[in-house]
Amino acid sequence: MKVLVNDGISKSGITALEDGGFEVITTKVAQEQVANYINANNISVLLVRSATKVRKDIIDACPGLKIIGRGGVGMDNIDVDYAREKGIHVINTPASSSDSVAELVFAHLFSGVRFLYDSNRNMPLEGETNFEGLKKAYANGIELRGKTLGIIGFGRIGRSVARIALGLGMRVIASDKFVGQAEIRVDFYNGQFINVDIVTEPMEDIFKHADFITLHVPAQDAGYVIGKAELDAMKDGVGIVNASRGGIIDEVALIDALDSGKVAFAGLDVFEEEPTPAIQVLMNPKVSLTPHIGAATLEAQDRIGTELAEQISSLLKT
Ligand code: NAD
Repeated sequence: MKVLVNDGISKSGITALEDGGFEVITTKVAQEQVANYINANNISVLLVRSATKVRKDIIDACPGLKIIGRGGVGMDNIDVDYAREKGIHVINTPASSSDSVAELVFAHLFSGVRFLYDSNRNMPLEGETNFEGLKKAYANGIELRGKTLGIIGFGRIGRSVARIALGLGMRVIASDKFVGQAEIRVDFYNGQFINVDIVTEPMEDIFKHADFITLHVPAQDAGYVIGKAELDAMKDGVGIVNASRGGIIDEVALIDALDSGKVAFAGLDVFEEEPTPAIQVLMNPKVSLTPHIGAATLEAQDRIGTELAEQISSLLKT
């Protein structure tokens, strides 16, 4: 059977699929050619990440398709219910990238509290006279230890963020529409561990108490989770990280809050417009930017590839 991998996969994923007897095609097929290609080449499995859209038109046009696989979590680029109605399996790898996304959150938090986003752009050139002024500004950096981290969305990634924050000595508070409580296991290098119980709180309490807020909710039909009213309710000088989905935070309101000083800095991995975010976001001197790379580590990509291969093998063998 043939597998079309349209948005890339790790070498270990390809090997695992080939070991399972599949022919793996890694040609990148243009969006408008995907259906033709699948039919012309007898493809049984289509694997995508977020770039390729698998909408009703492709599903209707490809009766031979048995599995649509999403490497990663969010399946907003796939018409999941429609595909399942047509008898196609739709799979993803929800847990494989949680730790990588969580670590990226801390890359942004550390960047924010020590002004790395700014110092990377402003190292002194020869003869520069203003650098002492910049150093003075950077001397206002703060430590994460002892500060309060507010986590909105306490699922897989939110809890992974909590584990790291607890290890750093941060106070962790969390809010979730559906999760009331979670036990977080913090593992140490020597095999010891501690369990910490976290009871979630209303979002208003997070806004009131958190020094930093990080967002880990899925794409919402109801619009922004964080708009002007929510930003106004936060502590002055709060730092915000969004590595969940563009559209969770109102970027216009965020830029206003950054410009007024209400929000001290923002770390953004996802944007209302991708791959090129709005110019006001790109150029804002208080924003630390990454181009949707939460899951882009070797470890996460290995786990994604091998988990997809395992699921495909077991689904098509039964
Ligand atoms: P998850 O389903 O395990 O957790 C999401 C949590 O959000 C759930 O507990 C749910 O109850 C809660 N929730 C939903 N709507 C809410 C709301 N309005 N207010 C408060 N809580 C709400 O998902 P996850 O694996 O932790 O992923 C979280 C997000 O991260 C998703 O949007 C996913 O697409 C995104 N993600 C981004 C990257 C990246 O590269 N930046 C990589 C992987 C996942």
